[in-house]
Amino acid sequence: MLVDADRLHIAIQKNGRLSDTSRELLKDAGLRLQNGRNALTARVENFPADIMFVRDDDIPTFVADGVCEFGIVGGNVLEEFRLSSGEPAVEVVAPLGTARCSLKLAAPEASAWEGPQSLEGQRIATSYPRIVARWLEEQGVTATVVKMNGAVELAPRLRIAPFICDLVSTGATLEANGLKAVADVYDSEAVLIRTTRPISDAARAQGEALLSRIQGVLTTKDAKYILLNASSEALPAITRILPGAEAPTIIPLHGRPGHFAVHAVCQESVFWETLEQLKGAGASAILVLPIEKMMM
Ligand code: ATP
Ligand code: ZN
Repeated sequence: MLVDADRLHIAIQKNGRLSDTSRELLKDAGLRLQNGRNALTARVENFPADIMFVRDDDIPTFVADGVCEFGIVGGNVLEEFRLSSGEPAVEVVAPLGTARCSLKLAAPEASAWEGPQSLEGQRIATSYPRIVARWLEEQGVTATVVKMNGAVELAPRLRIAPFICDLVSTGATLEANGLKAVADVYDSEAVLIRTTRPISDAARAQGEALLSRIQGVLTTKDAKYILLNASSEALPAITRILPGAEAPTIIPLHGRPGHFAVHAVCQESVFWETLEQLKGAGASAILVLPIEKMMM
């Protein structure tokens, strides 16, 4: 192999909807990249890893081939790849909660959509032919899937196919092309993937360290540290309200018998409404602090 077996190789999208959040995630995990935007690779200054900037469609292949041990890619691209290559040597190690979008089936605005059976014998243009073919099979419908690599929304106007199946977040592009979304075919988010091919012990250890940091970043994203005071009678109700706090620490307050300080890590978002509920349940002196780093 050409690449250094003791360093990690991480494939991320060079330019596109995944690039910024991928770079950000690596940065939050403490990785400092050396090169600028236009390089094809970047050495990480403070961690034994190299970053490869590639087209998103190539990321599953690189990881499954073991050229890169890790990659960040859209679930939709990974799923299409999986359906095309049997059992590739790649596993999802963390859903990232970013780049959420839906692969939707769209029909001409004027058409009478009566459910998937309206597709029988029709043509559907898409960049994800295998995901669409599987969905059609699940629906028990036979239709012709036409693969397009881009500009799928133009297919009806170009008379390539009356129906399309494309990634949608707002639906504005569909509308602008005289189409309406009629069915959800696949819901996607960005995922961190890892090769299941054998790798060197050094790379494996670095991979575990990286994964643990990334999991730390993901759990602290919405996490907050809450401190509050309460009387013993109020404690059961209060601990029930604390969002996603598993085992709060309860400390007696000096000089105030029957009163306690509650400290808790809340894994879910803490809203003003949450604080109002806590206050209503008898909490006082409520403090909500951001958590910078966490390792489980
Ligand atoms: P490349 O040049 O790397 O091949 P691309 O044009 O194929 O890029 P992008 O448009 O950058 O891909 O989208 C990358 C991924 O971002 C998609 O595969 C999908 O997972 C996600 N994505 C696509 N559209 C949206 C959207 N509207 N909102 C959120 N996420 C999206
Ligand atoms: Zn692509």
